[in-house]
Amino acid sequence: MTDTNTGGDVRLTGISKTYGSFTAVHPLDLTVPQGSFFALLGASGCGKTTTLRMIAGLEEPTTGTVFLGDKDVTDLPPYKRPVNTVFQSYALFPHLDIYENIAFGLRRRGVKSVKKQVGDMLDLVQLGDKAKHKPHQLSGGQQQRVAVARALINHPQVLLLDEPLGALDLKLRRQMQLELKRIQTEVGITFVHVTHDQEEAMTMADQVAVMNGGRVEQLGAPADLYENPRTTFVANFLGTSNLIEAEVVETGGTDLVVTAGGGKLRLPADRCSAAVRTGGKVLVGVRPEKISLAHADDAGEIAEGRNRVTGRIVDSSFIGVSTQYAVNSPAGAELQVYEQNIERDTRLAPGAEVVLHWNPAHTFGLDATQDID
Ligand code: ATP
Repeated sequence: MTDTNTGGDVRLTGISKTYGSFTAVHPLDLTVPQGSFFALLGASGCGKTTTLRMIAGLEEPTTGTVFLGDKDVTDLPPYKRPVNTVFQSYALFPHLDIYENIAFGLRRRGVKSVKKQVGDMLDLVQLGDKAKHKPHQLSGGQQQRVAVARALINHPQVLLLDEPLGALDLKLRRQMQLELKRIQTEVGITFVHVTHDQEEAMTMADQVAVMNGGRVEQLGAPADLYENPRTTFVANFLGTSNLIEAEVVETGGTDLVVTAGGGKLRLPADRCSAAVRTGGKVLVGVRPEKISLAHADDAGEIAEGRNRVTGRIVDSSFIGVSTQYAVNSPAGAELQVYEQNIERDTRLAPGAEVVLHWNPAHTFGLDATQDID
């Protein structure tokens, strides 16, 4: 690479991009910690690729600055940045074998002795036995690994990956997610990965920036985003969430008390936005797998202190690892419940009157009026 390889975080300050009157990326500040696996996650058109391309230097920001470590690289052309990009289309040279595809960057820089470095890269991506193959003789996943090796051989400070697994079928995609994660851990450089697949981002990334409409709606570790979404968009984009309309009736303690559908629920104050903690309307969130079901006749056996709402089962489907129920409840139009490992004869049938109950600690509170639109 070049002498700009200074190490450090990737820092975007006030970065934005407009095309004519259309704003693809609103001014954003974002820090990608050095050595982390970072995902930009969002639906098609949310601005994630544009953001990645501004880091690469392939797109000129309308406003803002791109730092790599302490160095302002905003005006540097792509080839002068210590950054490399892997695209969904592997862009391998079809007439060169795998060895020469990987060696290409070194040869272009005039490196004479490439054998050791190419060998190390082949080992890293576990393709040592394919060195003499041509790209068309490899599977999609293997070709993608060659693309990664080719991008890593110049020791970039940052590897940018733009939907690199998008062309693979689901099974191979899952394998490659683990493989890319292993490679990143082994080489220890910063990976910035663009994907629209929430499971992919959650599996691989240390930190995820969830983008919507050209903005980062929330940034955090996967488990934190899942357990403490701050907007309905994030709650719904990362898995399924029940959102129950409720009214705050007690504030001030470690738990808020709200009323929903005539009953009372508790939710931890520290899992609510500041606006919710002052009272008023709230959307009470709880993930379907956190809820248990009891037949209404057995409601007396539910432990004290659990949140509970009544309902009637309207649908149940057995999907192997779990049984998924849809429940009509006065507290919310239709609530989803996923129950795992239950015996066939204890499954509840549509029409059954039930009580849904869960640990209040698994409840979060959203201020729907604050959602970014
Ligand atoms: P996808 O997953 O579909 O690639 P994305 O989240 O990566 O989506 P971007 O490619 O960053 O989205 O595009 C963001 C928005 O900017 C889109 O609405 C897109 O149509 C628009 N856009 C991107 N490039 C240009 C361009 N050169 N001229 C005009 N509009 C553009």
